[in-house]
Amino acid sequence: MTGKSAAASATVYGYPRQGPSRELKKAVEGYWKGSVSDGALRDTAAGLRRANWLQLRQDGVQEVPTGDFSYYDHVLDTSVMVGAIPARYRAGIAADALDGYFAMARGTRDVAPLEMTKWFDTNYHYLVPELGPDTVFAADSATQVGAVGEALALGLTARPVLLGPITFLLLSKPAPGVADGFEPLTLLERLLPVYAGVLADLRSAGAEWVQLDEPALVQDRSRDELDAVAHAYRELGASAGRPRLLIASYFDRLGEALPVLASAPVEGLAMDFTGPAAANLGDLAAMGGVPGKRLVAGVVDGRNVWINDLQKSLHTLDTLVPLAHRVDVAPSCSLLHVPLDLGAERDIDPQTARWLAFARQKTSETVTLARGLVLGAQAIAGELALNRADLASRAGSALTNDPAVRARTAAVTSAGTRRSLPYPERAAAQRARLGLPLLPTTTIGSFPQTDELRADRADLRAGRIGTDVYEQRIEAEIRSVVAFQERAGIDVLVHGEPERSDMVQYFAEQLTGFSATRHGWVQSYGTRYVRPPILAGDVSRPGPMTVRWTAYAQSLTDRPVKGMLTGPVTVLAWSFVRDDQPLEDTARQVALALRDEVDDLERSGSPVIQMDEPALRETLPLRTADRPRYLAWATEAFRLATGGARADTQIHTHMCYAEFGDILQAINDLDADVISLEAARSHMRVADELAAAGYPREVGPGVYDIHSPRVPGSDELIRMLHKGLGAIAAERLWVNPDCGLKTRGWPEVRESLENMVTAARSVRSALPEGTH
Ligand code: GLN
Ligand code: ZN
Repeated sequence: MTGKSAAASATVYGYPRQGPSRELKKAVEGYWKGSVSDGALRDTAAGLRRANWLQLRQDGVQEVPTGDFSYYDHVLDTSVMVGAIPARYRAGIAADALDGYFAMARGTRDVAPLEMTKWFDTNYHYLVPELGPDTVFAADSATQVGAVGEALALGLTARPVLLGPITFLLLSKPAPGVADGFEPLTLLERLLPVYAGVLADLRSAGAEWVQLDEPALVQDRSRDELDAVAHAYRELGASAGRPRLLIASYFDRLGEALPVLASAPVEGLAMDFTGPAAANLGDLAAMGGVPGKRLVAGVVDGRNVWINDLQKSLHTLDTLVPLAHRVDVAPSCSLLHVPLDLGAERDIDPQTARWLAFARQKTSETVTLARGLVLGAQAIAGELALNRADLASRAGSALTNDPAVRARTAAVTSAGTRRSLPYPERAAAQRARLGLPLLPTTTIGSFPQTDELRADRADLRAGRIGTDVYEQRIEAEIRSVVAFQERAGIDVLVHGEPERSDMVQYFAEQLTGFSATRHGWVQSYGTRYVRPPILAGDVSRPGPMTVRWTAYAQSLTDRPVKGMLTGPVTVLAWSFVRDDQPLEDTARQVALALRDEVDDLERSGSPVIQMDEPALRETLPLRTADRPRYLAWATEAFRLATGGARADTQIHTHMCYAEFGDILQAINDLDADVISLEAARSHMRVADELAAAGYPREVGPGVYDIHSPRVPGSDELIRMLHKGLGAIAAERLWVNPDCGLKTRGWPEVRESLENMVTAARSVRSALPEGTH
């Protein structure tokens, strides 16, 4: 029986910004192109904010977030709000605030943009604030104040949601040119008065509560950092004319930061009680709760697409009621991370659709839970019964319980996750089979995705061309990609991935267990939105997925063609993954499907197979204590997918970032024969790191950065190769770009790869006798 809480209400911390038809993307990109005016862009934005608030009100939320909207990124907005504008943008901003803002986001001909990086362990990317000892903060609350006014005018309660000062500083990096060792957190003293000023402005504008998001507190924090938290909220708590403060955290448990926040002189805490953050419940109870405070309980998972277990959440809420002055209900984090509305979908099979909840549906779940908390479970008996039936249909569905898949995963043994021979013997067999020169050249897989290819795909989807015509065009593209690589003298060829628009979606579309959405857009960064596949059921592979194209490419050449697959961890990371079984079980299912693909590629004659795992590091748990377990199952899934390969089949993998320090052991545990990595921007630092760690296998540290159209000269590439050789023996060094070439144009790709082959040949010919 549910105990009643007098005041409970439902709220959210943020809502998808783009609009039902990605109106924001169209308006912003139109503005960049000059086809949408400044005024029209502002009107579209105001209309979207208003529509979201009215939707929230209609769905039962009275206290709405403001300030969660952004033209590009909310961390960038925070930089603007506190006046942390790097010098190189100031003139632009003075000339035109909006253009200056977009210059920080995207750069211009004259200035480089801010760096972009992942927002915690989500697939959202933010612009990294740049700070230095000379940074002068200044409050600019106009945007925030304006949004409060807009929401109040609709008769709503406006709760501005700002990025908190601690997280803002912890997410910042030293500006270019600032001496190493500068700690942005040392600027806290200067930043606090600026936050206090913004808070007072918001109070004057009519905001009774302001939410300060501090997700950085769910990561491991030092004693000094925790002291800074205590200090910050002591100061802000004592600041004049301030609103009531709600400090929010999400994505994981607060741990040692919980008592610090609990004793801070603020009126409320918003905490996540889902996933790994469920541990917050026990921690909060153990310390006797936060008796004088408002507690906003994030019980509806804000970053996946599954329906809530309402009964279970209600139970959590009941447990929380005696632990706080008042308990409100919310999704665990901003709904920015999920698609807008399941109601817009037509093609998801109705069985699966019952198990899904997007932002709108999650809002309704939150409202239902708040009602249950106030009025008792019997008041929401109908919703609870429906929810129970939906959950039961999911648990009992043939889609989530494929006996063949279950039997196969249960039968996995550790022998299945090992290659048949140890690396040195494999390497010898591969050398004999492939007959490659020293410093072999290759690419990472994709070649330019041309406008023609995109048009072909659109034509196929719209039914303007048939599958046969489409496949002929793909084959023609493969012919030209193979011909180019032969002409350029590349040693290990690829087919170029012309048939894939996305390296995960392509596989999701062919595997059983996945659903695709039509409108399920989620912001990745700025105006870039992705539609992650939904991994809802047991995963199996009805038939080969890539063999047709790889085998075709191999039929055109005597040189080895590298088969190209996406690894299990990356498939999971870039999908919405079922939450009704451990991730590692799902990873194993995907791995077994990929293992069959490896087998089929091998049979069709592929001597080299690459399995990309660019997401291995991005899904690292936020708390270091949780990492070894994750890395154990993640690397095991990769080995399960590749372990069945013959000893003389060369298995490659690829990752695209330069910070490997914390996963060197995991890279080693993949047991891939060759790994290619991003290295150009960090001047081959990873080669040194791998060498220092005694990495025993072959490595291709990228010799040039594919993120820009700049063509590297062969002299520069020769220098990079010498750097690589300084760390890695010639027998184990590969020559390749940093990443796939799909975003590049053909002219620069041709020239860059020709220069790369020239460089490899030149360095090769100068190698001392006897190196091989
Ligand atoms: N094979 C993929 C490509 O070349 C790898 C891309 C990636 O790692 N992000 O496009
Ligand atoms: Zn890459």
